[in-house]
Amino acid sequence: MRLLAALEFLRHSLRAGAGEVPVSKPAGWKNIGLVAFDLLPLARDYRPFVLASIQPLGLEAVKMTVPLIAPYGGSLVDLRIPIERFEDLKAHAGNLPSLLLSERSVCDLELLATGAFSPLDRFMGKEDYRRVRDEMRLARGCLFPVPLTLPVDPAPAIKLDRQVALRNAKGEILAVMTVEEIYEWDLAEEALRVFGTQDLRHPLVAEMHGWGRLNVSGYLQVLQLPRHHDFQELRLTPIQARVRLEELGWQNVVAFQTRNPLHRAHEELTKQAIESVAGALLLHPVVGMTKLGDVDHYTRVRTYKALAERYYNSGRILLALLPLAMRFAGPREAVWHALIRRNYGANHLIVGRDHASPGLNSNGRPFYGPLDAQRLVETHSEELGVAVLPFRELVYLPGEERYVEASSVPPQAQTASISGTRVREYLNEGKSLPVWFTRPEVAEILAETHPPRHRQGVCLWFTGLSGAGKSTTAEVLTILLLEHGRQVTLLDGDVVRTHLSKGLGFSRDDRDTNIRRIGFVAAEIVRHGGIAICAAVSPYRATRNDVRNMVGTDRFVEIFVDTPLEVCEERDAKGMYAKARRGEIKEFTGVSDPYETPLNPEITFDTIRHTPQENAHFILDYLVEKGLVKRSEAHLD
Ligand code: ADP
Ligand code: ADP
Repeated sequence: MRLLAALEFLRHSLRAGAGEVPVSKPAGWKNIGLVAFDLLPLARDYRPFVLASIQPLGLEAVKMTVPLIAPYGGSLVDLRIPIERFEDLKAHAGNLPSLLLSERSVCDLELLATGAFSPLDRFMGKEDYRRVRDEMRLARGCLFPVPLTLPVDPAPAIKLDRQVALRNAKGEILAVMTVEEIYEWDLAEEALRVFGTQDLRHPLVAEMHGWGRLNVSGYLQVLQLPRHHDFQELRLTPIQARVRLEELGWQNVVAFQTRNPLHRAHEELTKQAIESVAGALLLHPVVGMTKLGDVDHYTRVRTYKALAERYYNSGRILLALLPLAMRFAGPREAVWHALIRRNYGANHLIVGRDHASPGLNSNGRPFYGPLDAQRLVETHSEELGVAVLPFRELVYLPGEERYVEASSVPPQAQTASISGTRVREYLNEGKSLPVWFTRPEVAEILAETHPPRHRQGVCLWFTGLSGAGKSTTAEVLTILLLEHGRQVTLLDGDVVRTHLSKGLGFSRDDRDTNIRRIGFVAAEIVRHGGIAICAAVSPYRATRNDVRNMVGTDRFVEIFVDTPLEVCEERDAKGMYAKARRGEIKEFTGVSDPYETPLNPEITFDTIRHTPQENAHFILDYLVEKGLVKRSEAHLD
C-alpha cells in the first residue's frame, strides 16, 4: 500500500512538473527521497526530474545537497528489470531450465544486481576472470581483486545462447541469465593466485573443491532480490545508502567493515576517524556469509543497533547491512571491501591488522602478514578513490577513563585492554564484560546468546580407516559425556548409511555427499548447544576441512584414529578387507582408494597400545581442559 501510495504521489509530481500541484506530503513521510528511490526503475530514470519536481513543494527530506564520491566506474549498475516487465519475464522464466544457486551465488547476485560491485554487471566471463585472477583487473582495466564467478556442473540445460532461470534454494526465480560463455577453471591456479595458498584450512580453498568445474557467464535480468525478513529497515542498496548519506550532509564518508561485535575501542576508533576527516560513518557490517563460528548476525546486528542509537550522533552515522559472501582473501579482499564501499558512497575505509583474515593455516601460522591488507589497499587507494584510515590500536587509561592511541601512552602509564581471546573467555565463563570495555547494552545482548563454554556445542569428528576403532571408542565416549551431563548425538557412518544416507555408495561423490550430510546435521546440533560425535571413514582431507568450516573451526575437534592398515586388516571384524583384496569390493579405503591422513588434527590416538576406555578418557580430559565439559564432583579425585 505504502508503495502504491508513493507511486501515485510520484506520478502526480512528474505529471505536474515543477511545483505546480498542491500535492501534500503523505503523513509519516520523513524520507521522501528514500521512498522515491524504492520505486525503481521509474524513479531512477527520472531522478533529476523527480527532484526538480518535488523540491519546490518544500519537502525538507529532499535536501541532497552534498555530492558523495561517484560510484566506481562512474555509475551504479542496476540489473533489476523495469517493473512493467516483471509479470511477462516471470511467466517466461517459469518455462526455462533452472539453475540452483548456492548461498554464496545468491549473495553475489544480490550485490551484482544493486550495483555494489559496479562496474561489474555479471558473473565473470573468461577474460575478466583470467585478468582478475592474475592481475586484479577486469578485462577493461578497472581494478577488481576477487573472481566473482558462477561455477556449475556440466548439465544439458547449460548451453550457449540459451536462457536459464536462476533460482534460490527455496525455488524462487531470482533472475534470468542468457548464457554467453561457458569455460573451465583451474582450482589450483585460482587458489594460489587469489588466496596465495592451496592449504585446505583456508575456508574458500576448501569450499572451492565442491564447486562445479565450469563457470557460466552472460547477460542478467534480475526479477527480484532475495527476500530478507530480518532488519529490513537496515538493508539498504547502494542507491538507498547514498540517498541517506547525502541527507546526512557530509561529503566525507568513512566505512567500517566488520563481522564482529563492536567494543568501546571500536566505537572510539570510528568516532575519531570521522572527526579526523570531518565526515560521517557508514557502519557496514557483513551479514551475508562470514565464517561459521562467528557470532551470528542476528546477535551482532542487535548490538550495532543499540550502539548506533545510543552512543553515536545520529547526524553522523548510517548503519546498513551488507549481504556480502566473504572470501577471506586477506589483502585482495580488503581492496574489494574498499571498492564495494565506494559504491555505497564512502571515500574512506578503516583497515586494521589482519583484515578479512581466514585464521591459521595447517601449520598453525597466519595465511597473510598482519599489515598486508592495509598495504595493498594503500597501493590502490588513489585509483579506487578510497583512502585508508589505519585501524590504530587504542588502549584504555583507567585513571583518566578514556581511550588513547597505544603508541602515545607514556611507558609507565597504567593501561587496560582485553584481547579477543579474553573476550571469549569472559563470555565462556559466563562473566559480564567490564563497562569500560563494552557498553552494557552490548554486553547484555552478547551474554544472552552466548552460554558458558560447558553448555556450548562441539563436534567431535573421528576419522580413520575402516576397523580403526572409531565406532568402538565413540560409543564409550558417548556414555562418558552423558554421564557428565552433556547432550550427545552419535552419528556413526555405518548407521547413517542406513537412513540419512541410504542408497549412497562409495564413489568419491557419494562419499562426499555422505560426509556433508553428517556435517550438516552436526552443525545444527552444535549450533543448538549439543555435542555431535561423528564416526565415519571420511577419507578426503578437503571434505573434512569443509565440514570443519560448516561447523565452525573453533567448535570442531578432529580426532584421528591412527590405526595402521595392517592392524585394521588383521582385525577385519566385518570381513570387508578380505573381500576388498579379492576385488569383490571396489574403491575400498586403504586398499584400492586413498585415505588422506589429517594434517594437525586436534587429537590423535593409538588403538594398539590403548584400550577404547583409555582413549575415551583421554578425549574427555581434552574436553574438560578446554572447558567444554565440567568435571562433576564424583570425578575430582
Ligand atoms: P571403525 O568404526 O573405525 O570402522 P570399529 O570400532 O567398528 O571401527 O571396529 C574396531 C574393531 O577393532 C572392533 O572390533 C574392536 O573391538 C577392535 N579393537 C581392538 N582394539 C581396539 C581399540 N584399542 N580401540 C578400538 N577398537 C579396538
Ligand atoms: P565414508 O566416509 O567412506 O562415507 P562410512 O564410515 O560412512 O565412510 O562408511 C564406511 C564403512 O562402510 C566402512 O567401515 C566399511 O564397513 C563399509 N564399506 C563398504 N564399502 C567400502 C569402501 N569401498 N570403502 C570403505 N568402506 C567401505
